[in-house]
Parts: sequence; structure tokens; C-alpha cells
Amino acid sequence: MRITVLAGGIGGARFLRGVRKLAQTDGHVVTAIINTGDDVTMHGLRICPDLDSVMYTLGEAIDTERGWGRAGETWRIKEQLAEYGVEPSWFGLGDLDTGTHLVRTQMLAAGYSMTDVTAALCTRWQPGVTLLPMTDERCETHVVVEIDGQRRAIHFQEWWVRYRASLPASAFVQVGLEDAKPTDAVLTALDEADLVLLAPSNPVVSINTILSVPGLRDALRKGDRPIVGLSPIVGGAPVRGMADVCLPVLGVETSAEGVARFYGARGDGGLLDGWLVHDGDYADIAGMTVLARDLMMSSDDVTAGMVADAIAVAGL
Ligand code: GDP
Ligand code: CA
Repeated sequence: MRITVLAGGIGGARFLRGVRKLAQTDGHVVTAIINTGDDVTMHGLRICPDLDSVMYTLGEAIDTERGWGRAGETWRIKEQLAEYGVEPSWFGLGDLDTGTHLVRTQMLAAGYSMTDVTAALCTRWQPGVTLLPMTDERCETHVVVEIDGQRRAIHFQEWWVRYRASLPASAFVQVGLEDAKPTDAVLTALDEADLVLLAPSNPVVSINTILSVPGLRDALRKGDRPIVGLSPIVGGAPVRGMADVCLPVLGVETSAEGVARFYGARGDGGLLDGWLVHDGDYADIAGMTVLARDLMMSSDDVTAGMVADAIAVAGL
């Protein structure tokens, strides 16, 4: 069976390890459509935080303690930039990671698409899953905040990493969205999928960013293959990270049910046929099959079990 997964960075990466595990035993082919709204240019380098988190995680190169970047990383370039007093100094630019950014930036400058660049980088890391950027166009998430009494839109990375999401946000804006479109590879991955899974990623700044690419939601709803999501919210809070500060900006309750309503039931103009919540959580939404089970991705085997249950909920 062909499984296509929509995913962000760290949560998406851990989920994809489980999908890959199940796919290896059951013979599924897996494609992941990854959020590129977090992408940013710093010090002249094009950086794709979510694609890199997924690529390094599946390529067994991630720093598991930090959750992002390379294991065994050193920071000499960052130190040099600090010596020069060059901003931004708040971004964690590792030496090993910079190798990836240099290759990517050089290939983009030579005219390759982000899809091509990602495929080229993956020949080294062999993630075992086809990784696709959601779009080849630049489409960057900005956050509307107030700084010194002034309303400003700052890049998502600045809000997330520099301010640790502590500045109250009034909106998320995707700069470049009008000109963005899903790539052919993304459309094919949706078209050919027997099952689509929404990873337990940040519903607002990972999954919804992907869904907002013009045409992508329609491509997803087209056809009758099931779409099943997994809740990133457990017991009214995100398992890790700061998703709880993002959901209220869109008026969504921070609960497994709130996120399910946000995605919506397919029969109701939304997306989901099925929804997995953590033991003890609930969601009661007409037209959506809901299953409660352990959703803590404590090992690849546990996560593979979550995926098996998502397949069962889909009736496949
Ligand atoms: P980011 O782009 O690095 O922020 O990563 P994602 O958007 O892919 O994932 C972030 C989300 O993953 C957070 O909202 C977490 O609640 C969720 N998450 C992380 N670990 C787990 C887990 O073990 N189980 C579940 N259900 N969600 C998790
Ligand atoms: Ca992200």
C-alpha cells in the first residue's frame, strides 16, 4: 500500500520512524510531504528546519537529546560569527549542519528546485522514505506580534527560537502563499496514496501550513482514499514544544477534540475520516471514526503500532 504522510519537524520525524518501521515489515511505500514554512535564509544560507529534522532523524544522524540538528555537532562557525558581531546570533547554526545548508544553497543558486535538492541530500542520508517539500516556492510563516508598542510581522523562526514564542501572537501569515503551489511530486503522492496520515505534528504551524498551499487541500480531499490523523495534544497539552501557544491564535481549543474539529470531518467539508487520540482523551465528531490508544512515541515499535491502528481505523 502507498502511504502519504503530512508532517512537520520533530514530531513528524519521530512519527515517520514508526511509519518506516511498519512499512519495512508490511511492504508499504511511504512518501512524506514536509512543511517548509519554517524555512529561512540566514548568513546567506538557505535553512529548512523541518526537512532537516526529518532527514537527520531518519538518517540516524539527529542529536536525540536536543531533538534537532546533528549528533556530535560543534559550533565553531557560530563562534566566529559572534566574534564578528554578526546578527542573528540567536540561531543555532552548527558546523556539521552548515555543510548541509551550503550544499542546499549552492544547488538552489544553480537552479535546482527544492524538491531536487532534497532528493540529492537524501542520497546521503537514505531516509527510507521519500521526502518532499510541500512546495518549491518560498512561502515563509511570519507571526504578527507587538514589539515596543509597534505591530510587526516577524519570521516564525525569530518568534519560536529567539523569543521562545513568548510574544503574544495575533496571527500567522504565510508570506509568498499566493504564488505557491504543490509540486508535481506532491500531487502525485496524494493522487496515488491508498492512505493519507496527518502526523501528530503542530496543527497550526506544521500541518495547517502545508494545507494552506493553494490547491493542496483540494488534492487531498479528492478521491476516496481515507485520511486519518493522530493527535499531538495529549491530556490538553502538547507532548513537547509550544503548540499550546499556536492553537488559541486560530481560536482552536488545545485538546484532542479541538484539533479534530479544526481539521474537520471529511463528510462535513473537512479532511478526516479517522482520528487517533491518547488513552483518556476523547473526541466526538459526526462522521469521524475515533480510536483511543497510547499515542506516546516512546519507541519505533510503539509508533509502528499507532500506524497499524491508524490503518485499521481507515478500514484498510
Ligand atoms: P516541529 O516542526 O519540530 O515543531 O515538529 P512537529 O510540528 O512535527 O511536531 C510537534 C508536535 O509533536 C508537538 O505539538 C507535540 O505535541 C507533538 N509530539 C511530540 N512527541 C509526541 C508524542 O510522543 N506523541 C504525540 N501524540 N505527539 C507528540
Ligand atoms: Ca517546524
